[in-house]
Amino acid sequence: MLSDLRGRALATLRLSVTDRCNLRCTYCMPESRYTWLEKPHLLSFEELTRLVRLLRLLGLERVRITGGEPLLRQQLPRLLEMLTGIGVRGLALTSNGVLLEKQADALQRAGLERLTVSLDTLKPEVFARVAQRQELQSVLSSLAYVRGLGFKEFKLDTVVVRGINDEEIVDLTHFAAQLGAEIRFIEYMDVGGATRWDSRLVVSQQEILQKLGATYGSVQPLGGRGSAPAARFQLGNGQVVGVVASVTQPFCADCDRLRLTADGQLLLCLYAKTGLDVRDLLRSGASDSEICSLLGEFWAQRQDQGAVERTRVRGRSGYVSLEELRANPRLEMHTRGG
Ligand code: SAM
Ligand code: SF4
Repeated sequence: MLSDLRGRALATLRLSVTDRCNLRCTYCMPESRYTWLEKPHLLSFEELTRLVRLLRLLGLERVRITGGEPLLRQQLPRLLEMLTGIGVRGLALTSNGVLLEKQADALQRAGLERLTVSLDTLKPEVFARVAQRQELQSVLSSLAYVRGLGFKEFKLDTVVVRGINDEEIVDLTHFAAQLGAEIRFIEYMDVGGATRWDSRLVVSQQEILQKLGATYGSVQPLGGRGSAPAARFQLGNGQVVGVVASVTQPFCADCDRLRLTADGQLLLCLYAKTGLDVRDLLRSGASDSEICSLLGEFWAQRQDQGAVERTRVRGRSGYVSLEELRANPRLEMHTRGG
């Protein structure tokens, strides 16, 4: 089994298929101008499939498709078919849900089994403020549609930002229960792209659980988290919710994730400033075994624990400056896939 320098095995790939997005969430894309990846630099489906095939030889088990907004990538179901064709099972996708209603059937037919939809609010005016687009209705309509499709796993992801949606935690939890989805509350992270991040806007796991406890009575931690980013809790009514406490209780020690930007940079951490460029490698005529040994070496020398290191920073503010982001879009959260 391939392990990194902290004894962590490679098991999950977050595969970004585009850096484009049809929303502009203020915790992710608050700026009015962005530097985009160049279209010819995006990995083709054939290149992505080859890379996943080689990573599977090194122990990769799970693939989650992300973006930007992954549903903006043309013919996405074809990629899913190609991945299931090489034996990938349990394919997962994270989407903002805007275009999901139209695409969900084709994605499911192509092998999508696990679906996560981001939903930060149930209020149109708050949605317009957070996402800087008025698309709540399309997202709700997609959710109503996909609930009937019987995905093996169906989750909602909510980034909690103080003063924006922290008063909706209980309403969103209730909404998730009605929908038959598991909701996960995510602490607002100071990742690249989050240029408006401020520690005072972070609503901690502890505060989130207090709010839930005040309504639902007991909040019992469930064990068996493994390498999953969310700690799970059972509420007094039996409902299960997750919390991703990357700011106040980072889970770097159990992180089994590799990330791929749409233009082929492999990253060992959400906070990594550099990575391994596989695009040129895939286009260089290198053999499978040559690429495999480079991928293996890349994981084997991994030491990253970015979120833990951020907790040691005094007077913590945004992680990457706007100038750095404009010069290197691969530092953006919407480019590295969350
Ligand atoms: N566009 C899709 C979506 O929003 O679900 C997929 C890509 S998005 C970058 C993946 C995840 O990153 C989303 O759940 C989003 O809420 C999360 N995210 C983005 N910026 C964040 C931040 N500053 N802190 C915490 N989570 C963030
Ligand atoms: Fe929002 Fe996801 Fe788009 Fe970022 S990539 S702006 S989180 S929808």
